[in-house]
Amino acid sequence: MEIDGNILAAKSLVRFGVHHMFGVVGIPVTSLANRAVSLGVRFIAFHNEQSAGYAASAYGYLTGRPGVFLTVSGPGCVHGLAGLSNASVNTWPTVMISGSCDQADVGRGDFQELDQIQATKAFSKLSVKASHISEIPACVAQVLDWALSGRPGGCYLDLPTDVLHQKVSESEAEKLLTEAEKNRTKTEPEIVSNSKIEEAVSILRHAERPLIVFGKGAAYARAEHALTKLVETTGIPFLPTPMGKGLLPDTHALAATAARSLAIGKCDVALVVGARLNWLLHFGEPPKWSKDVKFILVDVSEEEIELRKPHLGLVGDAKHVVEALHKEIKDDPFCLGSTHPWVQAVSNKAKDNVAKMEVQLAKDVVPFNFLTPMRIIRDAIAAVGTPAPIVVSEGANTMDVGRSVLVQTEPRTRLDAGTWGTMGLGLGYCIAAAVASPGRLVVGVEGDSGFGFSAMEVETLVRYQLPVVVIVFNNGGVYGGDRRRPEEIDGPHKEDPAPTDFVPNAGYHALIEAFGGKGYLVGTPDELKSALSESFSAGKPAVVNVVIDPYAGSESGRMQHKN
Ligand code: ADP
Repeated sequence: MEIDGNILAAKSLVRFGVHHMFGVVGIPVTSLANRAVSLGVRFIAFHNEQSAGYAASAYGYLTGRPGVFLTVSGPGCVHGLAGLSNASVNTWPTVMISGSCDQADVGRGDFQELDQIQATKAFSKLSVKASHISEIPACVAQVLDWALSGRPGGCYLDLPTDVLHQKVSESEAEKLLTEAEKNRTKTEPEIVSNSKIEEAVSILRHAERPLIVFGKGAAYARAEHALTKLVETTGIPFLPTPMGKGLLPDTHALAATAARSLAIGKCDVALVVGARLNWLLHFGEPPKWSKDVKFILVDVSEEEIELRKPHLGLVGDAKHVVEALHKEIKDDPFCLGSTHPWVQAVSNKAKDNVAKMEVQLAKDVVPFNFLTPMRIIRDAIAAVGTPAPIVVSEGANTMDVGRSVLVQTEPRTRLDAGTWGTMGLGLGYCIAAAVASPGRLVVGVEGDSGFGFSAMEVETLVRYQLPVVVIVFNNGGVYGGDRRRPEEIDGPHKEDPAPTDFVPNAGYHALIEAFGGKGYLVGTPDELKSALSESFSAGKPAVVNVVIDPYAGSESGRMQHKN
């Protein structure tokens, strides 16, 4: 018996541990998807490769296994670049596999021809082509291993049409699979030297105003238990980045989230674990940070540490390094204690800010601003209990307000626009979260603009009956209503809707009803409470269309200075 390249690729994926795939099928990869399914893979078929790619990347982050997505050649591959690049920027393990045109016809204008290796190189850690069927198993193993190794990221595998149609005997295929399995690389995390651990502990011990900052790299490393022990042993306040939220509960007494400006502006030592000192952390520079702050950076990437030139860099896996720090401290423990002036300053400021925010949140403002519905969503999510729903959030004001108001109590329960500020990833992330965590409720909290990028994927939610409730903050446009200055409204097309406008009062809830899902249109607190209570307990695909005052919020959310 002989098998073709499609079967061998499917067998390779299964042999090397792939349980789920995302993608869009078509020439020349339909058979590959079908074969993978017949071998036990769950294939989630999307409408657009962009969303499939976003889904694969979030799956990689949530499971710690490479998220794999499949595209057709040429345009399919180009659409997939959005997912591949977003994965690499977020440092999430992801593999994009694309079919490509027949190798014999390259350069002659073949159907969907593109030099896909060249096209993907800028966005991947590794781009490889299987030029012959015999190379398929080794190439599949290689991209899966590379996606995970060192600093995780996106990898690309090119499977030309002719290779997918070539044949080998079953026994030859088995030999190739065994060989590839034998040669798989497993990189062990680097071990940080004892002297560096001792130095880090000594700096923390002598700090007057220490702070522990952690990000999605720490979340990816499953460092939550290690961080909890470190924080609770030392009594050092902590600050999560948006996706680091939940590693320790936002409600923890040492959480500095609500006192962010004070914590980063006044700390003298910051232990930063799995978070880059990029724009999200103001590059670690004044005026947000003190110019004298000593950074101790923990990152799996040596390159990252070299780039930032911290006071001390610890290259290694976040969980292992934090465990080593804790072990070192345990032998000669120190704890700031709740009466320490720094702990009190952070805690008082946080309590103060929370109280002020609560006053605003307590108001029932109708037509809705952003705060009133966000409070109702926060309370509905809290009422779900454990496991806490995974929240996916995007949009300018919706994401900004949601970050402050929604409470994360469990790790990896917040997915958002991330390092690139990517909009349009919401539906892909929601689908990935539901697939990666069966039985867990997923709640999308999205601006109408973010939702619109991939709204057709609500059909995917319905098709697979995923427990996802997408709440759309509908304010009729990008940032909401027409906010142009009078001098910006001119020219022969001035009667056109503004570039930021969408159709007012769009019926987003009706979109999901077209496919048999449940839609809700809400404009008052009672309507929203009832829609959330019903849809959360049903655990079925639903869209809640929340009508927001088009002039609530601000243009560009909190990023106005850049627009
Ligand atoms: P955030 O957006 O939460 O601030 P970033 O994406 O900027 O986080 O930073 C995450 C960092 O975590 C990256 O620099 C990445 O290299 C690093 N990282 C990824 N995996 C690990 C790991 N297992 N251990 C430590 N650091 C990691």
